[in-house]
Amino acid sequence: MSEQTMNPFLICQGQVKEACHQLGLEPAAYELLKQPKRFLEVSFPVKMDDGTVKVFTGWRSQHNDAVGPYKGGLRFHPGTYADEVRALSMWMTFKCATLGLPYGGGKGAVKCNPKELSQGELERLSRAFTERIAPLIGDDIDIPAPDVYTNAQIMAWITDEYSKLQGRNRFGVVTGKPIILGGSLGRNEATARGCVTVVLEACKKLGVDAAKATASIQGFGNAGSIAAILLAEKGVKIICAEDSRGCVYNAAGMDPKAILAHKTKHSTVADFPGAKNLPAGSSLTVECDILIPAALENSITSANAGGVKARIIGEAANGPTTPEADEVLFSKGIFVIPDILASAGGVTVSYFEWVQNLMGYYWSEQEVNEKLGPMMVKSFTAVYDMHKAKGVSMRAAAFMVAVKRVADAMRVRGWLG
Ligand code: GLU
Repeated sequence: MSEQTMNPFLICQGQVKEACHQLGLEPAAYELLKQPKRFLEVSFPVKMDDGTVKVFTGWRSQHNDAVGPYKGGLRFHPGTYADEVRALSMWMTFKCATLGLPYGGGKGAVKCNPKELSQGELERLSRAFTERIAPLIGDDIDIPAPDVYTNAQIMAWITDEYSKLQGRNRFGVVTGKPIILGGSLGRNEATARGCVTVVLEACKKLGVDAAKATASIQGFGNAGSIAAILLAEKGVKIICAEDSRGCVYNAAGMDPKAILAHKTKHSTVADFPGAKNLPAGSSLTVECDILIPAALENSITSANAGGVKARIIGEAANGPTTPEADEVLFSKGIFVIPDILASAGGVTVSYFEWVQNLMGYYWSEQEVNEKLGPMMVKSFTAVYDMHKAKGVSMRAAAFMVAVKRVADAMRVRGWLG
C-alpha cells in the first residue's frame, strides 16, 4: 500500500468518486464534492500558566451546505493536520446525508495536546480559537460540536465566547453543551447508542444471537466505553478493551463499567484486575463476533486486516478502515457498518439539541432515545437495501445513498448546471 493512500482526504475523495461513478452523476457533482467549499486556517496566541505565550494553529473546514448549515465536531489533538480536517468535514456531509439530517458537513481542529494543558490554558485556547472562527460559525451557518479530546465544558466556553461577541445568548451555535446551557439529554451517549443500534440490526440480518456474542472495543473513550456498556446490557460479552496506553483481555468477559472506573482512576485500561495485558493493536485481531473501532483514522490497514476475526464491525470512529483493508474485509465476508452510518448517532442527537435550542423547548431523555432509535434503523435499512440491490459493500452503499441526496439538492439549487 502506498503511503499516499493513508491520507484521509485522498481516501474520502476516492470513496466519493466511486459513488458518483456508480450513480452516473454529472461531472460537476464530483468536482464540487471533492474538496471543501471554504477552508479557514487560523493562528492565535495563548497565555500559558508560566507567563509565556504559545502560538497555536487551527482550522475550520466547511465542505458542503447544499441541504443545510455546515455541521461537525471540533478536535483538539497533537497529530491533527489540514488534510485530516478536510476529510473529516467531507465525511460529515455524507454522515448527515446518510441519516437524512438537514445539515451539510464541517469540521474543525486545533493542533494541541489537551492532556498537557491546565484547565485555565484550555479555556483560554478554546476562547481564542472561537474568536478566530466566529465570523464563519453561527446557528444558521456552521455548528461545531465535540470530537476527539473535546467535551461539553469546551462547548460551554465556545458558546459563552460566541455569545459575548454577538451581544446575546446564541445557544444553538454549538451542540454537545452541558445540559444547563441548552445541551440535550442523551447527547453524551448518542454516538455509542447509535452504533449499538445498527450493530444489533446487523446481528438480526446475519443471524448472530447478541446474547451469546462477544465484542472487542478499540478506543475506550466516550464512544467506545459507552458502546461497551450498552452492548453488555444486551448480553454481549466484552472480552477485549484497548486505549492509547494499554489493551486488556479476558475470554470470560469483563464488566465495562468496572473497566471505565479503572480507567478514570489510572488514565488507562492497562492492568485491569483479572484481565491479561495484550500488545498494542491486539483488540483488532482477537477472536470475537463484534469489533468496535472507536479510536482514530487508519486503525485497520492492509497490515492487520488479514488478522481480523470479527463477523461484524461497527465503526464508531471516523475513517478507521483504509480502502485496502476494506477490500480484505469484504473478501473475507466481514460485515462492516461504515462510519458514516455507525457513528451518526452523535450528530443525530446534536440535531435534536439544535432543534430544542431554536424552539426553546426541551425533551426528556426517553423522547430523545425514542427518536434516535428509529432514525438509525431506517438509515441502516436504506443502506442495507442498497448493499443488497447493487451487490456492493455497506460502505459503498452508504456513500451512494448519501451522495445521491447531496447531489439531488445541489441539482435543484442549480449548482450542477
Ligand atoms: N464529532 C462527532 C462526529 O464526528 C459529532 C458531530 C456533531 O455532533 O456535530 O460525528
